[in-house]
Amino acid sequence: MAILWPSGATEQARGIEGLRRALGSAVALAEGGAGVLVLRRDGEAAGASGDGSSGAGTGGEPSIVSWGIEPEPARQLAEVLAEDHTPEPLDGRPRMIVNAELWAGEIAALALGDLAGGVGVAYILGRAGLSTRRLIAEPRRRQALIGELTAAVRLYQEAARLRQENRQLGSILHFSGDGIITVDAALRITGFNPAMEAMTAWHQHEVLGRFYHDVLLPRDLHGDPLGYRHDPVVQAIETGRAVVDAQLILLARDGQPVYVSVTAAAVRAGSGQPVSCVVNVRDITRSRESEELRDTFVSVVSHELQTPIAIIKGYASTLAREDAHWDAETLRARLKAIEEESDRLNHLLANLLYASRIYAGGLTMERTELDLAEVTRSVVRRFAARAADRDISVRFPSETPLVLADRERIEEVLLNLLDNAAKYSPKGQPIRVRGRVSDDEVIIAVSDVGQGIPVREQQRIFEPFRRVDNSVARRTQGAGLGLYICKAIVEAHGGRIWVTSELERGSTFFFSLPREEKPRAPMVIFGGRDALRDRENGTGERMEERMEERL
Ligand code: ADP
Repeated sequence: MAILWPSGATEQARGIEGLRRALGSAVALAEGGAGVLVLRRDGEAAGASGDGSSGAGTGGEPSIVSWGIEPEPARQLAEVLAEDHTPEPLDGRPRMIVNAELWAGEIAALALGDLAGGVGVAYILGRAGLSTRRLIAEPRRRQALIGELTAAVRLYQEAARLRQENRQLGSILHFSGDGIITVDAALRITGFNPAMEAMTAWHQHEVLGRFYHDVLLPRDLHGDPLGYRHDPVVQAIETGRAVVDAQLILLARDGQPVYVSVTAAAVRAGSGQPVSCVVNVRDITRSRESEELRDTFVSVVSHELQTPIAIIKGYASTLAREDAHWDAETLRARLKAIEEESDRLNHLLANLLYASRIYAGGLTMERTELDLAEVTRSVVRRFAARAADRDISVRFPSETPLVLADRERIEEVLLNLLDNAAKYSPKGQPIRVRGRVSDDEVIIAVSDVGQGIPVREQQRIFEPFRRVDNSVARRTQGAGLGLYICKAIVEAHGGRIWVTSELERGSTFFFSLPREEKPRAPMVIFGGRDALRDRENGTGERMEERMEERL
């Protein structure tokens, strides 16, 4: 994360450079030619570099730093010197070593450390023919050297520890399943983890440095913009107290609302001034949806069940009155009404069971080879017997390829679409059912000349319990489950379902099922070359429009 959560590589390089410079000054002070600094790692004796590797320090921090000598010879030198010479901690006097194979000059080993303990050993490599011994043996100069180098090592180690902590924090933030944002005291975003990216579709490089409000447009649960006073992030920064589990809506990049629970905590400087705020963001959209679904379920079920039960009970109790005598016609009419309402109840209960099985993921399919033209004609025949006032026409190409599908369930889909076409278009208006074949699907379209569906509702009517809120919906009965069930069935077959509609002109519901086998030779799909081109261009919608025109 570019601002607050750095990778640490540059800081590490900078830290080593600082250490190398300190070593350089020490070498200059001792009038030496080069220097090697072996850092003591926790749990090790100073100077013992273990496997001798220069990059094996804790958390990837190096344990050897050199100045005036290449890293590899420096590493070898440190390894050999560690074997034949272990300086006493805090030993004021340097040990002098001469090892002609390694370095053509005097080598002075200085144990580095302070009252808090040893931090490592510095080897000052003298120039050939010149004595470093004399300079280093001088106590003040030696103490100055040890003091400077020890301080530089301590500083470097502290920075390394912070880097290590920062890396750990960075990976916690990176891999956290919850969204985490950090903002500075001016509410500018300084960190944005991958879970936030997944939740909002914003990429961190697009949001860093921008105002949190401008990016995430926080709203209250009614969808109204959240004033600063009610914003948990502002509250946390202003009061210094953590705000826990504030529920609000953030808008994703495409404007979709994301219901979130936010916990915000300010980070303060030593002076007490707030410097930043860490915001934990949990996506609660799904649990809210489940809650809403449960509420809707209860209200729909109670409403939809009450109406037919009340009618049945009303008719049954009037018919049962002992003081009344009913003529045969009245009797038949009321019994028919009771039968119709019982059917409706039955249908609703079947749909509810169906929907709960879908929701629980327990919808199983028994697929056989089906000729959709034949299945459709038989469903339409049965439906037409119930809807005598309708002119229902069916047309399919002369040869319809087979599909592999569950006959009963596909009949259910067709019946639902036919039912809706009749329910949501005026009596007497025609209903048309058309079959088409594309190179990989068989598509069925059911069209009516009804009230149509507003564009913004066209996706949503496939959600459970969703009904368009208009006068017709209020007049007609329905739980809003039919299309949800159709969608689940069609998608379980690997097909698609969609609608095109125009207000006051009518709607066409399409569903497709994959062909059992694709033809070997490329075939001309309906609409000819244009449709093929549209398809290649990925503009299937034009094909659908054309299809609708032709229906
Ligand atoms: P129901 O018909 O029981 O309400 P559905 O899931 O079958 O439930 O349909 C959901 C909603 O979609 C309906 O309430 C209606 O508002 C709308 N709808 C479905 N089919 C049509 C259609 N052919 N014409 C207009 N609106 C329709």
